[in-house]
Parts: sequence; C-alpha cells; structure tokens
Amino acid sequence: MILAFLTFLVLTWLLAGYLGVSQNLRMIYVFISLIVVLVTLLLIPETNSFSVSMGGWAPLATVSFILGGTFFFRFFIKVLRNKSHDINRADVKESNEFSNHELERYSRHIILKELGGLGQQRIKNSSVLIIGAGGLGAPVIQYLAASGVGIIGIIDHDKVSLSNLQRQVIFPTKKVGEQKVFSAVDAIHKLNSNVNVRPYNRRLNSDIAEEIFSEYDVIIDGTDNFETRYISNAAANVTKKYLVSGALGQWEGQVSVFAPHKGAPCYACVFPTPPKEGLALTCSEGGVFSPLSGVIGSVMAVETLKILSQSGNTLLGQMFIYDGLRGESRKIKIKPNKKCPVCSI
Ligand SMILES: [Zn+2]
Repeated sequence: MILAFLTFLVLTWLLAGYLGVSQNLRMIYVFISLIVVLVTLLLIPETNSFSVSMGGWAPLATVSFILGGTFFFRFFIKVLRNKSHDINRADVKESNEFSNHELERYSRHIILKELGGLGQQRIKNSSVLIIGAGGLGAPVIQYLAASGVGIIGIIDHDKVSLSNLQRQVIFPTKKVGEQKVFSAVDAIHKLNSNVNVRPYNRRLNSDIAEEIFSEYDVIIDGTDNFETRYISNAAANVTKKYLVSGALGQWEGQVSVFAPHKGAPCYACVFPTPPKEGLALTCSEGGVFSPLSGVIGSVMAVETLKILSQSGNTLLGQMFIYDGLRGESRKIKIKPNKKCPVCSI
C-alpha cells in the first residue's frame, strides 16, 4: 500500500511537471500529501486496517524525513548561491564611480543627453539573461557587452555548427563543434573584460526558469522554438521581469517588449497558441537572410538598453516589424488579452 501511495505521488509529480506546474507548487503538494497521511497514521490505532496496510507510521516518516532533508539541503545550497550572486552584484554596484578607462570607453553614451552618466551607471549595475546564443542572441550579446552591461547570463544547450556561422557573428570558424555558451563567453571577454558572464550550458525548462529569471533585471528571448518561448513568457510573468522578445523568418523579423506587470501584454496575449505545424518555418527549413539577424537582434539590444538606462520610450504594447525583402518597417499596437491564460490569472 505504501508503495502504491508513493508511486501515485511520483506519477502526479511527473504529470504536473508535464502540464507546466512549477517545481515549488509540486513540492508543496507532495509535502502536504505526506503530512496528511502521516498525521492520519499517527492518530488512528496501529491495529487499524489502513495503518496495517501502510506498515505503520515509521516507513512513511522515514520517507518524509529523507525528502525533507533533501529539500532543506537544496534550499540551503540555493541560499548560499544567491548570497554569492549578491556578493557579485555588490561588487558591481559598489563601483559607482567610472574609472578613466570606462569614462573613455563609454564616452559616446555618456554624452548622449537622453542617456548620460546616470544611464550608463544603470547599464553597468544591471543584469540581463539572454535565452539562446543564436542568430538573435549573437548581436544582442555583442551590443550589450560592448555597452558595458554588468552581468550577462546566457542559456543555450547547443553546439556551434557550420551552418550557424552565416549569421551568428560571434562565432569564428574554429569554434564549430564547441558548446555555444562557452564560445559566447570567449567572445564577450574579448569584447569587454569588465562584463561578468554567467554561462548556463543547458536547455531552459519550467523547473529552473523562475529561479534563474529572478536573478536578472531583463530577460531576452532569442530562441527558435515555441516551447521555450511559452516557458520564458510564463516565468517572466511570475517573476515580473521585462521580456524583450524577437523572432526571425526568412526575410522578416519582429520585436516587442512584453511586461504584464507594467500593463502591457505578454507573449501569450498576442500568440495564445503556437502556429500549426508547417506554418512557421525554422531557419533550417525556410532559410534566413544573414543581416536580418543583425537588424532584429540590434533592435532587441536597443530596447534592452533603453529599459536598463531608463531612457526613451520602449516597445511596450507595440510590435516592430521589419521586412528586409521590401525594405519596409512598421509598428502595430498590441493589447493585453483579458482572458489570457498566462497573465490574466
Ligand atoms: Zn497575457
């Protein structure tokens, strides 16, 4: 009976994970279930048929103790890790004065009246997570690193392939076959050694998204698959982070800034469901015009740096669309969906 109960808990844990329920909620569910059954076993006589079938309270208490210990250990590690990140951030934040090198390096930003020294200071004290070191991630990485963003996190599980090089301009030919995140770290260090880079050599999933997002000021979605886009959107909504989102297709690209916590729509308000199979071609299926990555990625970097430096107006509630084949661009208004399954709850 106890095995059946534990199997049931494992199966519901896996099913809830498959349906996108966060790890924290699933953890709470497991502990409440264990505590309810354990308390019941402690309250009823040991001769009760349920107690007998469960082997008494001791086996379940042991399982609860092991799980509780594991949970506490993970929590302890997380606190330690956050503390070390805080120390990293404190290092960045304490250096509120620019060195002579930085004054010269960022002088063309500092003399922009809309950005100025204060805006550059905000950029230096900020942190950005880039999801996907591909066609969009590459130009974003270049401009954010060159602009002196304090902390840049990059998450990607892919390797550099020969067909990437036509548009993913941070990777030289000799990096083919290497993990993208580590090649990206090299590229950033060569560009600007002041940037603190955090590589995540893995695929983003719903179990880790909220925890990672909570450590950054702005999230950049430069992925090429819809599953990751919806995971990023849900986690950005929960953690109340700006989501700068870009997409590419053959000759056309689009950019928007999603932020339901600022009254703007989220990604799912505009795209409630992924397109039907075959309607949205990936780069490998439909091709992509090389400099289009640069145009759209650069617009994403523009939006990110404006958010960080608090200058100008961003693309909140608007979508910028660029058609490279016709040389046309336009902006459309996008509105929150009151019935959005992600941000209206
Ligand atoms: Zn929404």
